[in-house]
Amino acid sequence: MTSEKLATRLKTGDEFRESLRDGREVWYRGQTIDDVTRHPSTAGGIDILAQAFDAQHDPATQNTLTYVREDGIRATKAWMMPRTPEDLRSRRECIEFLARETFGVFGRQMDMIATTQVGMAAYLPLIERHSPEYAVNILPYIEYASENNVVLAGPVADPQGWRSRGSALGRRGIPLYDTDGGGPDARELDLEIDGTVLPGGMRVMRRSPEGVWVSGAKVVGSLAPQCNEMLVSNIALPDPTPDSAIWMIIPVNSPGVRLVCREMTATPEESFHDHPITSRGEELDSLVIMEDVFVPNWRIMSLGWTEIGRHYGLIGALEHWHTLTKLCVKAELFVGVLQLVVDGIGTSHRPGVRQLVAEVIEYAQVLRAMLIASEAAAIATEGGALWPNPMIITAGRSYALGLYPTIIHRLQELAGQGPILRWSREDFDHPVLGPRLEWFYESESLSARDKNILMNLVWDLTSSSHAGRVEIFENVNGFPLPYLRERMYNDYDSSGAVSHVRRFLRMAD
Ligand SMILES: Cc1cc2nc3c(=O)[nH]c(=O)nc-3n(C[C@H](O)[C@H](O)[C@H](O)COP(=O)(O)OP(=O)(O)OC[C@H]3O[C@@H](n4cnc5c(N)ncnc54)[C@H](O)[C@@H]3O)c2cc1C
Repeated sequence: MTSEKLATRLKTGDEFRESLRDGREVWYRGQTIDDVTRHPSTAGGIDILAQAFDAQHDPATQNTLTYVREDGIRATKAWMMPRTPEDLRSRRECIEFLARETFGVFGRQMDMIATTQVGMAAYLPLIERHSPEYAVNILPYIEYASENNVVLAGPVADPQGWRSRGSALGRRGIPLYDTDGGGPDARELDLEIDGTVLPGGMRVMRRSPEGVWVSGAKVVGSLAPQCNEMLVSNIALPDPTPDSAIWMIIPVNSPGVRLVCREMTATPEESFHDHPITSRGEELDSLVIMEDVFVPNWRIMSLGWTEIGRHYGLIGALEHWHTLTKLCVKAELFVGVLQLVVDGIGTSHRPGVRQLVAEVIEYAQVLRAMLIASEAAAIATEGGALWPNPMIITAGRSYALGLYPTIIHRLQELAGQGPILRWSREDFDHPVLGPRLEWFYESESLSARDKNILMNLVWDLTSSSHAGRVEIFENVNGFPLPYLRERMYNDYDSSGAVSHVRRFLRMAD
């Protein structure tokens, strides 16, 4: 382990960029990317993260993004275990800051997937009971990641194709508790290609005293091309075999890992004026293919415990609280955007318009209330963490996801023609067009140019292809709405209320 340790300190943005020039194999449109920090599909998203790394050193923001550990070392909050209400508030401030800086459209912030691994520590005794040989690695990995300011991706879902091919594994999709069980023989779906055995589901192919060799593929690999390491696990498989029940964290540049990126939706060639969101870049999604990847023991947190996925609701609660916080910040920013829009185009005095804006305010307020409630009703985990209340988080996320398309529609609706009739900087700078555009578009509260950039923002947030990706991301990332509701149904303890109803109706016991 020590040979892989970097210096113990917070990275700057440039040091983070440098850490990504590590020989990783990343594909975009049939070609490999030499340097992800420079390629148009990946560079913008990396720059966004790099700004956060620099903000760790800025006296104005360092206490928002970092904290001083008990040993006196200043470290990123990403790997901080929340033990008190103050810790939770401190972590939330970090999430809120990063969400505001990116308008809530960059899900995989530097502190995001780290929460999932912190969840393993929060439930350490549980893992120790079921995978003692590897549970010993959970805390040392967190220490290593904290000292090296590691940013993780978390590809744990599975590519859609192979699951529907074999009769044994077919047509399962996302995990629900009512699977047919029985541990399918994953080898049914193996394929030999170019001399390498490629399984359908990811699994351990070989073992040695030093570690294991893993092959398979994972998705959706958000941020994988743009970060340091990946938390890879089969928690999304309903009934993994012992060989596929693995939780590990591997460097993106591990030999045998190849990332195949989706088409970009960012527009780095455009100006900030024309596209204030998409010109900055994005987190890129990817297929993560693993072919005989060696994973040393210290990078494995659990292996052979096939039931681990059933505990993901608890282990992953901090990650889902992170998502809920980001959704809340985004909703509050949407209110700000809408207020500027209705003031700017002069519709705010109309009762119908105010009703629609109030709907978005209500949405933002309910999310804020759910966050407050999840912290007020936080639970103590058996590993000594203070954990935001999982049931309230699931209910909050479920509420947020269900209404998200409506909220996006409210922004589109209230902006009217605005997001369609937008003009480029060249139009405004033109001696003939410029004065005419200024004349027709200047309003009481906004200059024509300010109104234009505001509508550019509305377009980027609601109607661009980037917005389409973000809307799908919000909907299914971290499990889609039907799954969340299924989990609520399964996990909610209604026994007290049922007993009361029975007693009230004088039913027999
Ligand atoms: C932009 C984006 C980024 C993502 N990033 C990541 C990431 O970084 N890491 C990661 O692990 N995953 C990521 N996800 C993947 C996400 O976890 C999965 O998409 C999600 O869990 C759904 O799984 P699936 O796509 O395999 O859905 P499928 O199983 O293919 O099902 C498709 C749809 O059918 C419905 N459905 C399926 N089964 C059921 C059921 N039993 N009950 C009710 N409805 C059902 C749901 O609406 C589901 O969305 C991302 C997804 C997107 C779109």
